[in-house]
Amino acid sequence: MTDIDRSQELFARALDVVPGGVNSPVRAFHGVGGTPRFIASARGPYLVDVDGNEYVDLICSWGPMILGHAHPAVVEAVQRAAARGTSYGAPTPGEVELAEEMVARTPVDKVRLVNSGTEATMSAIRLARGFTGRGKVVKFAGCYHGHVDALLAAAGSGVATLGLPDTPGVTGAAAADTFVLPYNDVGAVELVFGEHGHEIACVITEACPCNMGVVPPIPNFNRLLKSLCERHGALLIMDEVLTGFRVTRSGWYGLEGVPGDLVTFGKVMGGGLPAAAFGGRADVMEHLAPAGPVYQAGTLSGNPLATAAGLATLRNATEDVYEAITRAASVVARAATDALTKEGVPHRLQVAGNLFSVFFTDEPVGDFAAARRQDTKAYAAFFHAALDHGVYLPPSAYEVWFLSAAHDDAALDRIVSALPHAARAAAEAR
Ligand SMILES: *Cc1c(COP(=O)(O)O)cnc(C)c1O
Repeated sequence: MTDIDRSQELFARALDVVPGGVNSPVRAFHGVGGTPRFIASARGPYLVDVDGNEYVDLICSWGPMILGHAHPAVVEAVQRAAARGTSYGAPTPGEVELAEEMVARTPVDKVRLVNSGTEATMSAIRLARGFTGRGKVVKFAGCYHGHVDALLAAAGSGVATLGLPDTPGVTGAAAADTFVLPYNDVGAVELVFGEHGHEIACVITEACPCNMGVVPPIPNFNRLLKSLCERHGALLIMDEVLTGFRVTRSGWYGLEGVPGDLVTFGKVMGGGLPAAAFGGRADVMEHLAPAGPVYQAGTLSGNPLATAAGLATLRNATEDVYEAITRAASVVARAATDALTKEGVPHRLQVAGNLFSVFFTDEPVGDFAAARRQDTKAYAAFFHAALDHGVYLPPSAYEVWFLSAAHDDAALDRIVSALPHAARAAAEAR
């Protein structure tokens, strides 16, 4: 058994002063049980916990660390920026450079920097409502857009049902402005536009859903959303917080080429510091204060450390980096399916570009309802056996397995030799 005394002690102290002991729920290991590991440091593809245990990291901070941890160029950029002062509350060159870099790589004409993906989607929705003068938002069950009130409504599997709040604290009114549809359901989208087209401000969708596991859009689904929005005077918000600058240098847009009227970004563009953004068509973005009437602001938005980390990450994310991630992802995906097949554990690999996830079910997963039919108990056993063998998988069956360009042969070998133990544990747990 791995020694986790110091993690246990810290978790007990954290439980006294932090709700649930963590600052973001998935970190608490509720999906898999057990004590969360407190991390002391990270380098390349490895995490080291406070007890000195080393793990190959398959979370990569939930996406941002495409270059691996503590990449020298990113560390140096942040150190230099910090030495010049950490925040001014006035514009900086780094903001212009980061915005230029993002505009050059993606379909957006202008971007506004914010501090989190949640802030990006929240602001994009306000802008869409302000621009169209309409109130209703269409989202898809299983797509996560941060913890924005109107976007936490995910209940209701019926076609075009009005959303019900998924959590206490979100009012019925906020949820009632949200239509929640099953993902990949063309008929449901056509129906809601047919009945409510004139009330819909925007459709928000993950460019490729990754927060219920990887559930790629069926061919032309995003194009259909785009054309329905156009026909009915609504805006399409492509949420690329997770996929942006990760699946290609221009995100999911680089694979499919369907431009959102607005696009949200986060994760990779902050290089591991809090930075996110929303951007889009110039005529829409010009409605934002101070150019236009829709208010949006932030004391730390465009923070100089965050823009330095983001720029260093994007500038070092060359084609070689994307190739390395694709290669590493295919090695790990194959090793996982081989190990699970050998142990007779029902599973399904779903791939989207260099992203993949493994569902513990053998049926195809095209929407959230199907994702939820997987065997999460088998996943929990799989997760813990991998952890005991030095591999840190996402502590939830509904997540992408994240790789980086730093996952070299030594790290991949460790994963490949741990997975058969994990698969055996999953087989025993069924
Ligand atoms: C992570 C994520 C968000 C929320 O970003 P935070 O920085 O955690 O607020 C929004 N949308 C998608 C698609 C995400 O993956």
